[in-house]
Amino acid sequence: MESVVPIPAPPSVPVHGTSAVFPVRRIYCIGRNYADHAREMGMDPTRETPFFFGKPHDVVVPRGGEIAYPPATSNLHYEVELVVALAKGGRDIAVVDAPGCIYGYAVGIDLTRRDLQAKSKEKGQPWDTAKGFDQSAPVSPITPVALCGHLETGSIWLTVNGIEKQRGSLSQMIWSVPEVIAHISGFVALAPGDLIFTGTPAGVGPIVAGDRVRCGIDGLGELEIQLV
Ligand code: MN
Repeated sequence: MESVVPIPAPPSVPVHGTSAVFPVRRIYCIGRNYADHAREMGMDPTRETPFFFGKPHDVVVPRGGEIAYPPATSNLHYEVELVVALAKGGRDIAVVDAPGCIYGYAVGIDLTRRDLQAKSKEKGQPWDTAKGFDQSAPVSPITPVALCGHLETGSIWLTVNGIEKQRGSLSQMIWSVPEVIAHISGFVALAPGDLIFTGTPAGVGPIVAGDRVRCGIDGLGELEIQLV
């Protein structure tokens, strides 16, 4: 069938160590899933459960690299996160069945225009401008579960210009990866190609043009971006 506008290229992320790609269908993100980060954002993790929001799928930046400092902000923040790539989906997925839905894992950065997010919170408005802007989801190549196993306890860290800013453990997540998958699937049907950003540990902060951000998770590769 003829298309009335050019068909956009489908976004994808490379699979570690192969020439294969993982096509990206949707991007979900969990907020405040590490207690120490919830506290640094002024929230009480014992009184509030995590929640999720989305980013458009074409904001993914496979392998990281150069990222243009986005417009309309003077407070762009990094958030290093474990990213889960789904091979299977469904609705109302049970926690025990969730690991079987996972294709693999990657390192991602949930780039956030923190000043716009603060305004949205204040006015009770959606977070789209704070979270869903161009190039806001750099992701490393995906490592298949067959190679790395299921990740539950490793270190997650991030440096800016060589200085460590974030370091935590995946074991600090309030909701485990299977719980995150089960929770989201209670609201929407998950499907192959979905990426889930699973939250960030404490230490988030601003970056500016010229900054070089490196991050990693035990068992996965590293991801690097440069703000230009
Ligand atoms: Mn985040």
